Amino acid sequence: MKITEIKCFIPWVGHRNQLVVKIETDEGYIGLGESGVSGRELAVEGAVKHFREFLLGKDPRRIGALWQEMYRGQYFEGGRILTGAIAAIDIALHDVVARKLDIPVYQLLGGAHRDIVAGFPTAGALSGPDVVDQARSMIDRGWNVIRFTPAETDPGRSEVSEPRESIAPTAEWMIAVREALGPGPALGIDYHTRLNVAEAASFCQRLPEGTLDFLEEPIRAESPEAYATLRTMTNVPFAIGEEFSSKIAFVPFIERGLTNFARIDVCNVGGLTEAMKVAGWCEAHYIDMMPHNPLGPISTAAHVHFCAAVPNFSWLESREGEVENQFTNELFKSTIALDGTGYPVPTGPGLGVEFDEERALETGFQFSESPHWVRRDGSVTNW
Ligand SMILES: [Mg+2]
Repeated sequence: MKITEIKCFIPWVGHRNQLVVKIETDEGYIGLGESGVSGRELAVEGAVKHFREFLLGKDPRRIGALWQEMYRGQYFEGGRILTGAIAAIDIALHDVVARKLDIPVYQLLGGAHRDIVAGFPTAGALSGPDVVDQARSMIDRGWNVIRFTPAETDPGRSEVSEPRESIAPTAEWMIAVREALGPGPALGIDYHTRLNVAEAASFCQRLPEGTLDFLEEPIRAESPEAYATLRTMTNVPFAIGEEFSSKIAFVPFIERGLTNFARIDVCNVGGLTEAMKVAGWCEAHYIDMMPHNPLGPISTAAHVHFCAAVPNFSWLESREGEVENQFTNELFKSTIALDGTGYPVPTGPGLGVEFDEERALETGFQFSESPHWVRRDGSVTNW
């Protein structure tokens, strides 16, 4: 079998673009993949075009060797743009081979460990009593794990944020949610890299023990040294890794005990080939996978197959109602859908997603930026 074409589509899906890679082969089998580098899709498309030059004519079944060639086939290895492109191609190669063998993708990864991949939803901001009602209603719908977002500091001025001022209300309403729900449900916060080390420590120290089951990215994640410092100032479990591009970035966080859940993103880390290596490394350190999954149906499918195939798994990021998205319905004829609080592990061939490339070409790319936030003095701060 030979790769005969690698196409890149970047359709606008209403709130952002979605970068889809399609691989075609001489035997008629196709494969789909998605890249996770949201907001810089044209750069990823450029990388895919470079890789296409030497991938045409290659055997798509040599997935691991092609991964090495893509990663190491230039002097300047790695980085988020390149591994985002490698991820989309690697996922598509798995889809091609699984379709040819008429098996689900997780069979290529060692087979399924579970029948259902449990999800976790995200409630609103910890800004007031509404979030308590929202959390109660999620529990009533069967969720036993909920993630929250920090309080807004300048309601009505969505581009302004004062990180330190978010700490007190976020802690106050987190405590109120825990008191309302009792000790059972797992509760987490995604602080979205908005704090510095001192602020993150102050936030954790305001919470009684047992309030929080995980704190996702309180600070930016480039510096394991900063996390090592923060680790000495709080015992709240950390969930880090959604931007990491390759196993190498995970190494210090795994080996030095700096994360307690791996927030891996298959579409950023370099695809299923790389994600399975990270999962194995985490397994040896008793760390569960809690993947980041904010993208489209191909990302969700890739993550469901990945989560099915690893023993060390906690929950997959998910959104209730995601299949009702108008753009998703137009672009994808078949998807893997959330059923209640989890994804039933699919049994059909490949990833289980079909894509309308004509519709994607009609939809087309639009320039867009994720929010650029500032503090009240005008200086840049993280969204
Ligand atoms: Mg996050």
